[in-house]
Amino acid sequence: MDTKAFKRSLQHSENYHRKGFGHQVEVATQLQSEYQSNLIGEIRNNNYSLTRGNVTIQLAQAFGFCWGVERAVAMAYETRKHFPTERIWITNEIIHNPSVNQRMREMDVKFIPVDAGKKDFSVVETGDVVILPAFGASVQEMQLLHEKNCKIVDTTCPWVSKVWNTVEKHKKGDYTSIIHGKYNHEETVATSSFAGKYLIVRNIEQAEYVTAYILNGGNRDEFMAKFAKACSTGFDPDQDLVRVGIANQTTMLKGETEQIGKMFEHTMMKKYGPLELNQHFQSFNTICDATQERQDAMLNLVEHPLDLMVVIGGFNSSNTTHLQEIAVERGITSYHIDSVERIKPGNSIEHRQLNGELQVTDNWLPEGKIVVGITSGASTPDKVVEDVIEKIFELQGIASVA
Ligand code: SF4
Repeated sequence: MDTKAFKRSLQHSENYHRKGFGHQVEVATQLQSEYQSNLIGEIRNNNYSLTRGNVTIQLAQAFGFCWGVERAVAMAYETRKHFPTERIWITNEIIHNPSVNQRMREMDVKFIPVDAGKKDFSVVETGDVVILPAFGASVQEMQLLHEKNCKIVDTTCPWVSKVWNTVEKHKKGDYTSIIHGKYNHEETVATSSFAGKYLIVRNIEQAEYVTAYILNGGNRDEFMAKFAKACSTGFDPDQDLVRVGIANQTTMLKGETEQIGKMFEHTMMKKYGPLELNQHFQSFNTICDATQERQDAMLNLVEHPLDLMVVIGGFNSSNTTHLQEIAVERGITSYHIDSVERIKPGNSIEHRQLNGELQVTDNWLPEGKIVVGITSGASTPDKVVEDVIEKIFELQGIASVA
């Protein structure tokens, strides 16, 4: 499919909306009351720190809702207002946050059912409204919804669209897109649907494997087994790694994306020489500012003397997991939770480990004076962060600050 031509024709269709419906002011007030927090405002104004009793809360200087997420949530609220009686679907979680997704259900925005790992679009009928989430949707899903004559409300973050434009450029120049991401993350699924030839590398280790293959060759079967789910149909490592371009899932660790880009650049330079580099390597900066700011703020926060960290964000949120990784790498005791309900009675906490498993830890809040570092992923409303801070104060016998 000519994905570029399809996108262009979709964008000219009267059923396609990507700019809201003029209810911004009304919705902004509603979002403010549902998701904002006075306490967080107070802590921000106090140099991101607050001490009550024995507990000092140290907040990261950039955390929580990014503008892409805020925009997507606002558009979803506007959609409900604009189409008060129509059936509204969303192709995936609007963002990776359980409380926001719960609000979508309460507004009767339905999620496309998933059966055995496959989305069942048969529930969607002509004239229904379908919202595409902040991290986008695959071109095949868009095409299907367009053919069904649905009204499409596209909340895809412009940063994600920028990556899609990048892989389109790779395709045009016959470069294979090397996508730094997780092959099963919705954003990367969408990005790869716009790419021509592509290979998804999850981390430095996989990038090292691929660059070694480019330089020295290797076992083709082993290569294909390793990347079976992470490459385009018909991909051949002996043919398709001669010209490569770099793209990324916007929520990966910024330093890692940059390092992977450099590794491929050096590899192509070594193999083909500096004069031929442009014929074999392309790179555009597609690292999202918001992801970068949150990671940089986390790196600053972990320089403080902290007794423990709480990282708040959806368990399937890639950018939150990366914040947790930073704490773990620094050897800081850190708990990744997605809501205040994970903090259980009796000083115990249910939290997600980096391997994805849930673990319950007892006596997680030490006695005496403590400094607790707090951050949250780009999909987490301030209200959720406030709830967690209030809970910590409550557990330490400190009266509510409200
Ligand atoms: S993290 Fe970046 S790319 Fe993702 S929604 Fe937010 S602004 Fe957009």
